[in-house]
Amino acid sequence: MSAPNEPGWFPIALRLRNARVLVVGGGGIALNKIRLLLAHAARVEVLAPTLDDALTALRDAGDIHHIPAEAHPDQLDTLLPGCRLVYAATDDRTVNRAVAARADALNIPVCAVDDPTPSSFITPAQIHRGPVRIAISTGGAAPVLARRLRERIEAVMPAGLDDLARFLRDARAHVVTRCPDIDRRRRVWEAFLDGRGAEAARRGDTETARQILDHLLDDTPVTGEVWLVGAGPGDPDLLTLRALHLMQNADSVLYDQLLPPDLLDRVRRDATRVFVGKQRDRHTMPQEQINAELIRRARMGERVLRLKGGDPFIFGRGGEEIEALMEAGVPFQVVPGITAASGCAAYAGIPLTHRDCAQSCLFVTGHARKDGTLDLPWERMAGSGQTIAIYMGVSALPDLCAMLIRHGLPPDWPAAIIERGTRPDQRVLTGTLNTLPHLARASNIGSPALILVGEVVRHRVISSSFSEEKEAKRL
Ligand code: SAH
Repeated sequence: MSAPNEPGWFPIALRLRNARVLVVGGGGIALNKIRLLLAHAARVEVLAPTLDDALTALRDAGDIHHIPAEAHPDQLDTLLPGCRLVYAATDDRTVNRAVAARADALNIPVCAVDDPTPSSFITPAQIHRGPVRIAISTGGAAPVLARRLRERIEAVMPAGLDDLARFLRDARAHVVTRCPDIDRRRRVWEAFLDGRGAEAARRGDTETARQILDHLLDDTPVTGEVWLVGAGPGDPDLLTLRALHLMQNADSVLYDQLLPPDLLDRVRRDATRVFVGKQRDRHTMPQEQINAELIRRARMGERVLRLKGGDPFIFGRGGEEIEALMEAGVPFQVVPGITAASGCAAYAGIPLTHRDCAQSCLFVTGHARKDGTLDLPWERMAGSGQTIAIYMGVSALPDLCAMLIRHGLPPDWPAAIIERGTRPDQRVLTGTLNTLPHLARASNIGSPALILVGEVVRHRVISSSFSEEKEAKRL
């Protein structure tokens, strides 16, 4: 059996607009509270012999009213009546406690800052998004813990929550009129919040949100949507907050070979998982069929997550998928991801550009054509002063290096290959155009791997998380 709740602090939200609030103290402790009070449109009176610079500026701007005096009992008895709240915010605990006792005797809620014992209320840590407030409190037991929790909650709060809350507030009266039955109304709100409507409201598209709400009120089915989301190169910590949010809201997910399984674990548990494969020359599902599946599912009303490795628009055929969706009139969103070149380079400690040797960076595909030839801008690639990031180039590596040498790069030009970049089993090999193909073969480097060519490879720095030693063991 669980223990009964400890009697603690009773949470309320108080309207302070135009209410008189007395703050005792003229320094930094008072300032923190005064800022909060002003943000809530309170009428702030500050009792303190002197004010620090920041408070003086607020007084000069007319934001606060200053009573230049000590917190003597007489003074307090004159000022306290009629106050909605009192903050005892001097740096002297004895003074704060005396103020608290006085206010308490008059039944006025009082907070002695950082001192819960004499306080009758506390000010919790807050998250504030438009009409939405989240307050976190440990009842003064552990303010740092409260702050940590706030950071965590902030990190998972979807962007646009303020717009969503405002939209809901503005639509409320309309929904009550159109749908007087309270149970059905709750279902309408739930369907709206779980569906495309909330997404639209969150990005400020109130027109679409309103249409969807009206459809729900009319009981007409709402079409789904496709989310084309880049999941980054492998390390789940490299997901964007937006990717994670959509992953947790999807009804179904279509995913590739390239996607590490621990990324899939973060997709909503009851979402249907559809593997669409796609390995070089071994397409489990042809592109047209993938497009058709996306459209079919969206038309059934599903929110379909098309999860791709890296960034969907970098060698990801994302362009083709959205063209098909556009043609079919299926709504979609695209979410960028960290592409292999930047993820692998960062985790291998190789800067993609460097003031001293690379002013530009080319992303190219080393995927050979059907006849086995590589169709690449060799002249442009063989220049110095740049980095070349080659995707899908493992099997063509010997040809790639030979062609770059033939077009003028020196055989000892630096080059690196990063296999399974950003994942726990990442391997990095560095060498030259001459040596890299042999090194890669000897170490049995496989897909996915990214090739980097250019002098930046010489600027490689190895961070503590990928030490030489650890790597040596892996190789
Ligand atoms: N859209 C993806 C690229 C898809 S093409 C992106 O933006 O990253 C597939 C190629 O990407 C692979 O052949 C490989 O060259 C590269 N790649 C993807 N993930 C990788 C990883 N974790 N490590 C190394 N290379 C990777």
